Amino acid sequence: MAKRPILIHPDPRLKAVAEPVGAITDEIRQLGADMLETMYDAPGIGLAAPQVGVLQRVLVMDCVKDETQPPRPMVLVNPEITWSSEEVSTYEEGCLSIPEQYADVERPAEVDVRWTALDGSEQSERFAGLWATCVQHEIDHLNGRLFIDYLKPLRRQMITRKMVKLKREKARA
Ligand SMILES: [Zn+2]
Repeated sequence: MAKRPILIHPDPRLKAVAEPVGAITDEIRQLGADMLETMYDAPGIGLAAPQVGVLQRVLVMDCVKDETQPPRPMVLVNPEITWSSEEVSTYEEGCLSIPEQYADVERPAEVDVRWTALDGSEQSERFAGLWATCVQHEIDHLNGRLFIDYLKPLRRQMITRKMVKLKREKARA
């Protein structure tokens, strides 16, 4: 396994629509393993392939927050939301591609998601709570959408300016 660098907003690759994965190859399995390592190391609870510069529909997540519970690393290939609840919930979201910026985002409280697992099997599950927020945030990434796209333009521009400055400082360092 190897950690991969995480792209920081703004980056055109974070605005692109990712391509569906055709077949579960060794390359895809490696990508999933690398993404999990990168996510845990960050640390974060979710990561989408475009965030490491790979424009394919793959995401990883593990929303187990309780240290006494075993981790649940998940790799979802070609995930699709098949149902969303009318009930909504609001979480303060953050993103590994937009470091240290947080904002409330309202989303459906529960979603059904269908995806392909790394063993090639078709899976589906109903997600609630933090898992539901996380899986929707990551699927948004596969469609070139960031959580700041839900904010008012002024707030979004302010965050983007901060990120431009951060990237400039990083490039100089
Ligand atoms: Zn994100």
